[in-house]
Amino acid sequence: MSSGPKLVSDPPTLDGCHSGIPRNLLRSAAQVKANLVSNQTIDPRERAQLPVLPQGFTSSQFATALAEIIHYLGKQHVEINDKPLDDGWYIEHPNTHDAFNLFDSEDTVSSAAVYPGSVEDVQAIVRWANKFRMPIFPISIGRNFGYGGAAPRVRGSVVIDLGRRMNRILDINPDDCTCLVEPGVTFYALYEEIQKRGYKHLWIDVPDLGGGSVIGNTLDRGVGYTPYGDHFAMHSGMEVVLPRGHLVRTGMGALPGNNTWQTFPYGFGPYYDGIFTQSNFGIVTKMGMTLMPNPGGHESFMYTFEKEEDLPQIVEAIRPLRIGNILENVAQLKHVVQEVAALGKPRASCIHPGEALTDGIRRIATSLPYGDCTWIYYGTCYGPAELRNPKLKIIHAAFTRIPGARKIDPQTLPPDHYFWSRDRICSGVPDIRELSWLNWQPNGAHVFFSPICPIKGQDAERLLAIAGKWHNKYNLDIFPAFCVGAREMHLIINIVYDRGCEISRQNAYRCMRGMIQEAAGYGYGEYRTHLLFQDQVAATYNWKNGALMNLHNSIKDTLDPNGILAPGRLGIWPAAYRNRGWELTHNDTNTSGKALSEGNSVCHSRCASDTKL
Ligand code: ADP
Repeated sequence: MSSGPKLVSDPPTLDGCHSGIPRNLLRSAAQVKANLVSNQTIDPRERAQLPVLPQGFTSSQFATALAEIIHYLGKQHVEINDKPLDDGWYIEHPNTHDAFNLFDSEDTVSSAAVYPGSVEDVQAIVRWANKFRMPIFPISIGRNFGYGGAAPRVRGSVVIDLGRRMNRILDINPDDCTCLVEPGVTFYALYEEIQKRGYKHLWIDVPDLGGGSVIGNTLDRGVGYTPYGDHFAMHSGMEVVLPRGHLVRTGMGALPGNNTWQTFPYGFGPYYDGIFTQSNFGIVTKMGMTLMPNPGGHESFMYTFEKEEDLPQIVEAIRPLRIGNILENVAQLKHVVQEVAALGKPRASCIHPGEALTDGIRRIATSLPYGDCTWIYYGTCYGPAELRNPKLKIIHAAFTRIPGARKIDPQTLPPDHYFWSRDRICSGVPDIRELSWLNWQPNGAHVFFSPICPIKGQDAERLLAIAGKWHNKYNLDIFPAFCVGAREMHLIINIVYDRGCEISRQNAYRCMRGMIQEAAGYGYGEYRTHLLFQDQVAATYNWKNGALMNLHNSIKDTLDPNGILAPGRLGIWPAAYRNRGWELTHNDTNTSGKALSEGNSVCHSRCASDTKL
């Protein structure tokens, strides 16, 4: 633990930095940063033998290749990764490695970053990579925290940081309610620009945090919390640089002179946009996104449920309401442990030594405005009061059929309560509050376990039991939340671990492996995963001896015969790498395949090994 308060500079704002924080969130961001820094014991890591070269390159081959791209882009737009690795924090994040490393941070580290300023630059970089067989890895902002951050899967890849110089909002159409953006446009930036232009009738859809890019989040099939929450479903039109440098526009964008690129996603003929999401088939340089018309009002609400065992009943109550669109947004059912962690305090200051986690959480929850409970449902109804009220009535009747359910009156909640952060996000206003639970552990880092299941009580219980078993085995606190989509649920479990402690990292890693495998045995698959688990998850989607992966491989080999673009991302390996030992399997603890021995799972971040939920 740090001995005293550290001096913390203010985070950069959007005025001077494309990935900065909006001015109105500066104070909150500075507070979040100060808390995270005070909870940090590790410093930027000193390093040896730099830069880390991609496998197969000698220093002189790498230098020759780099000289060529420096010649093209200019020295100031190429940066060798030879400084100490600094994890920074959400707003001042690295583009060199995974700030929330599970293996050693050197393991998925880049050799250099290049900063294209135009589509032509991106094409030139791709052609350069083909010439030298250089692995490249595109990022938009690189804040894919919990899923690998900015880290490439292949060590020594050159990161293409698109966002730094390609961050224009090319169009906001207030009549069609659409926009067209470049990779470096964050949700914060888009929101601010819409306000600046005075388009009060336009909403955006934001994830829990607004610092990711609209493009990066959509390409990783992220979600937000208004009725426009499925970002891929709501996008329209892409411009893509293919792995050999050709440029293509999808949908109506292929028709010269069109004015419907952002209003009709399909165009004519096969629809390709999907193959550029969660893949390594192209670099997206522009994308259209639909914007939600302001519905004329909204009302967020919160219900608490008493007992752990209420879960199946709650889920059964949610299903018809969600499918029937009475519950209109991706709503969240959170365990109270998340609420307590969202207070932003370290575990060690919440749970007494020797106290069971459940007891500690209950004790703290009792002192919170809504009192003792186990599950908390956050939802929002949209439209003017006369449209909202009938829906709210139906929801109330359904939820209060569960014994002990209580509707919490928002007026009883203080202005800094987490509820109000949810209220902002669910009405399209980006926030930064969601990071507070990272303080639960020193050097707090997190990784997501995100399986999909039906909106059924027994599935929710079964998945949670699987996750609970593995968390117990590896002595981890469990933070479950169900995010309810139109006809399925994502169970999002956020493992918070101490990235400064090897045992804590290994516990999180092993727990992830165990959960993925066991869940797959029951037919539950992840919708998205951290880059270290992508081989494993891809291998669970193996109907008919991996027919789907065979299709991915054919597309990969056709589009990217030299295998330069993000090799291994989503478990898709180009021919030059395939079946040559690159795939990570169960026992690997680094990307070169060192086996992990089962050892002590008690880490110093936990008060005691008997404090299980
Ligand atoms: P964010 O902008 O939300 O921080 P990232 O830049 O971290 O998201 O990207 C998320 C994932 O999507 C990364 O794994 C990255 O490789 C991929 N990705 C991001 N931007 C692009 C892009 N413009 N083209 C292709 N893939 C991209």
